[in-house]
Amino acid sequence: MASGSSYAQQVRARRSFAIISHPDAGKTTLTEKLLLFSGAIQIAGSVKARKASRHATSDWMEIEKQRGISVASSVMQMLYRDHVINLLDTPGHKDFSEDTYRVLTAVDSALMVIDAANGVEAQTRRLIEVCRQRDTPIITFVNKMDREVREPLDILDEVERELGMPCVPMTWPVGQGKSFGGIINLRTRAMTVFEAGSERRPQDFETIALTEAGALRARFGSEFDAALESMELATGASPAWDHEAFLAGRQTPVFFGSGVNNFGVMEVLDALVDLAPPPRPRVSTMTVNRQTVERTVQPDEETFSGVVFKVQANMDANHRDRIAFVRVASGRYAPGMKLKVQRTGKELRPTSVVTFMSQRREAVEEAYAGDIIGFTTHGGVQLGDTITDGATLQYTGLPFFAPELFMTVVLKNPLRTKQLQQGLAQLGEEGAIQVFKPDAGGAMLLGAVGQLQFEVVQHRLKAEYDADVRLEGCQYTGARWITADTPQDLRTFTDTYPLRMAHDAANALAYLCTSPYDVRLAQERFPKIHFHPLREHA
Ligand code: GDP
Repeated sequence: MASGSSYAQQVRARRSFAIISHPDAGKTTLTEKLLLFSGAIQIAGSVKARKASRHATSDWMEIEKQRGISVASSVMQMLYRDHVINLLDTPGHKDFSEDTYRVLTAVDSALMVIDAANGVEAQTRRLIEVCRQRDTPIITFVNKMDREVREPLDILDEVERELGMPCVPMTWPVGQGKSFGGIINLRTRAMTVFEAGSERRPQDFETIALTEAGALRARFGSEFDAALESMELATGASPAWDHEAFLAGRQTPVFFGSGVNNFGVMEVLDALVDLAPPPRPRVSTMTVNRQTVERTVQPDEETFSGVVFKVQANMDANHRDRIAFVRVASGRYAPGMKLKVQRTGKELRPTSVVTFMSQRREAVEEAYAGDIIGFTTHGGVQLGDTITDGATLQYTGLPFFAPELFMTVVLKNPLRTKQLQQGLAQLGEEGAIQVFKPDAGGAMLLGAVGQLQFEVVQHRLKAEYDADVRLEGCQYTGARWITADTPQDLRTFTDTYPLRMAHDAANALAYLCTSPYDVRLAQERFPKIHFHPLREHA
């Protein structure tokens, strides 16, 4: 996309999507092939290298690697058919699901990879739920057709049930496993013939028009007729393709293929350009003089704005800086621009601003809505922060989930208190863990959604802040953020439960629970208090 063209043109040419799957379905392989065939990287294998420790001996090794991965290439940009495509990877481990939810707030669509033998698996199901809540359009890729897998009709049926929306097949497989013959493109009415191997460029696969039925039958025998029959059943049972329904998250286009064999990949890349949506308007919500002021911000307006959806400490322990990943919501970012953090009203002075071209980080030249840029800073930015060129805007919607697991932090060497506090503050801001400071004093509480988060934090406190800590169990089993309509109502409540009150890293007030009944009882006693299981950054 030539620079200098209008904002509207730039926005129209942008696609930002997240790739989601259950581990081992083939996400890494597909990512690599998408990058390869868009022309973003020259050498296949470079994406693979970064997940070498998949089957590492301990969970710990795996997370450490994941952290490395997420820094190196959680965001990749490719150029394809005059479009700028931003691909956002999502962490594989379920204990980091919160990160994934936040990534999903930064994209306009999702690509769901399914293993054709396993169908929709546990982790995919959770991710789908989040997409559904946000009405994120989903493109489905059914992978591993070169294996002995389930019947395509059966898979479609399951996807429909799990997604709660109809599938519209875009391609259809002929055979599978050893007799996998290829895919029929329902639009072009032509069959692309499968050949195994990872050397072939997608455009080199042989294509035969369906009108040459005789030749196809001669070559693929009964598999071809069976495919035609099931294809007809599938198209008969599914609604006609409706682009608007897809954009509203009410239909998913389905593609079949084999990532490792480069097969069916180009169809997905084309779908991202042809079907996936460009960035959409976002709503800024602010409270001014106790009034809610809403403003719909168009992606192609001049005002630069964006949201921090991820904060990552530098992997290199010698550099204490952090990268704030910002999804651009509107306007154009250009180097040297003055930036304001809405929450504090302060100017953000990044030491560098980078973009993510496949594996490399490069100084950003310009960025438009849909792009992801990384601000390297020494602080002053938190997850969920809105950053603008000075305009007064506030986006909400970055979710924090009420922790389900709690530990107290005990410092082994009391002289390291300052380091501990700094470490916890920074890890809290990154969203690696939630940190609660009890109002009544006492040890800091760590709250997590997944157990591994504790391990990461304990390790990082030691490695990065030289604070050796012990984590101890405590009586809390949950938390709810609380608000009330009047300060008086809130005070009555906090006065009743002084020992249960805590403030989190964003200084939001929370009520700590010791059993599932807690909230119910408190709610019954105090009907005017609102208990929130989810906090959206405001
Ligand atoms: P991820 O965990 O979802 O990122 O999955 P990977 O991309 O690492 O793939 C998991 C395993 O499945 C690897 O051994 C891949 O080589 C293999 N794989 C990926 N795609 C295919 C495919 O289309 N066919 C076959 N047979 N194996 C595949």
